[in-house]
Amino acid sequence: MDMMNLKYDVVVIGSGPGGLPAAIAAARQGAKVLMIERNSYIGGNAVSGLPMLAFLDKKGRQVTAGIAQEFIDKLIARKACFGHRLCPMHNSVTVIQPDILKIIAFETCKDAGVDILLHCEPVRVDVENRRLKRVFVLGKGDLFAIEGKVFVDATGDGDVAYMAGAAYEKGEVLQPPTLMFTLGNLNHEKFFDYLEKNPDQLTYGGRIECGEGYDAAYFRASKNHVFVGLRKLIMELREKGECPIDRDTFIYINSPNEGQVYVNSTRHLNVDASNVFDLTRAVTEGHIQIEKLVDMMRKYVPGFENCYISNINTNLGVRETRRIMGIKKLTGDRIINGEVPEDTIALGSYKIDIHSGRDDSTILQILEEPYGIPYGCLVSKDIDGLMMSGRCISVDVEVLGSSRVMPTCMAIGEAAGVGAALAVKYNILPSEVNCQEVRKIIKDNGGILKV
Ligand SMILES: Cc1cc2nc3c(=O)[nH]c(=O)nc-3n(C[C@H](O)[C@H](O)[C@H](O)COP(=O)(O)OP(=O)(O)OC[C@H]3O[C@@H](n4cnc5c(N)ncnc54)[C@H](O)[C@@H]3O)c2cc1C
Repeated sequence: MDMMNLKYDVVVIGSGPGGLPAAIAAARQGAKVLMIERNSYIGGNAVSGLPMLAFLDKKGRQVTAGIAQEFIDKLIARKACFGHRLCPMHNSVTVIQPDILKIIAFETCKDAGVDILLHCEPVRVDVENRRLKRVFVLGKGDLFAIEGKVFVDATGDGDVAYMAGAAYEKGEVLQPPTLMFTLGNLNHEKFFDYLEKNPDQLTYGGRIECGEGYDAAYFRASKNHVFVGLRKLIMELREKGECPIDRDTFIYINSPNEGQVYVNSTRHLNVDASNVFDLTRAVTEGHIQIEKLVDMMRKYVPGFENCYISNINTNLGVRETRRIMGIKKLTGDRIINGEVPEDTIALGSYKIDIHSGRDDSTILQILEEPYGIPYGCLVSKDIDGLMMSGRCISVDVEVLGSSRVMPTCMAIGEAAGVGAALAVKYNILPSEVNCQEVRKIIKDNGGILKV
């Protein structure tokens, strides 16, 4: 059988918050773009029910806009989002209706002229004289050779970079993954009444920091909220052996849909989600934990008595695996100091939020000021023609604890797309692109690089 050969300027692998804006931005700059995705939908973790956290910084200033904001505006126009709301715990929350985001993502790619290839996964790559030349993808039994001038690895796990032999780091203990699910028929008012009468369910024993006003009144005031709490109850139930999860809080993300919430509460310890055996174990555990967790909520938490599971996500939510090393690497000390260097291509402001992969704890450090992510964190240091976007960029573990939130990944993605398109335009490597030109294009298109 002949292998089909395809040729593109920019090939983006992965269509999550890192990949989607990269493909759109590159196409809008005139590049011929292909985005490859293993699923039958695009959006990655952004369509799992998670809220977009920290479009705003701790002081309420907007730090991410550009393509990320364009998606929010389109969601608002369809009544599938309420915009950004300050949150005493997460800087800001922006809850969204994930299925509508899927539709908008397809539409926006179509309008920008991005070609999409679904149900395909790279199985091999060709690297010649340290330059990534093509990826071979398999889909429905057919193998395709896809040649590109620039490849953007937006798989979250850096799968393509790994296959190409790029340098990477991976912590010994990784943040634990979570299998997200959706609950229907929650009686919110009854739950808020319970919280009002039991405010101790909103305190975290100093283990999770949150500002004043993260209380029943805050949740009641708007559907645009994320609930993190019930620590006291969960700890008591764990003592009694009646709580199936290795964590200390219950988290739900409110949906714009009545009575519906997305639950972010399973936890799977000692999992390396870039290893298919661990991945399989976590997904198996996740399904089993979910039903037990819902039974526990129905039995012990007022408002949840009649709730039901309406969806279990197709993919495990993965917080941390490989970080691909770039010509620059951003480290925790720099973001704690709020450094915004000259070559900044995206701002981040979310707190350093590291869920322990070993036990039930979470490490948090609030960031008072936004920080800048340098262009070089998106460019592989040893494989030419390879860029990274989203969660797998060149940062240390502390930075990942912050830069992994979706608005930041989207801003990174937009920059990766612009950088890739400029490399194609001038027939140079991504490492040779003038990052001031990338910055100018980002700013001209409404992106924020300084508050
Ligand atoms: C449980 C959990 C809760 C979180 N909570 C929040 C939150 O509340 N708010 C927030 O802003 N952020 C949150 N995050 C962080 C955020 O969701 C991720 O860091 C972000 O989605 C990373 O974007 P990405 O594009 O790099 O990866 P992903 O969103 O994982 O997207 C990667 C895409 O690549 C595809 N892909 C992967 N491998 C391959 C392959 N080999 N071939 C083809 N396609 C491939 C995947 O199917 C997917 O579509 C959370 C993360 C997790 C796991």
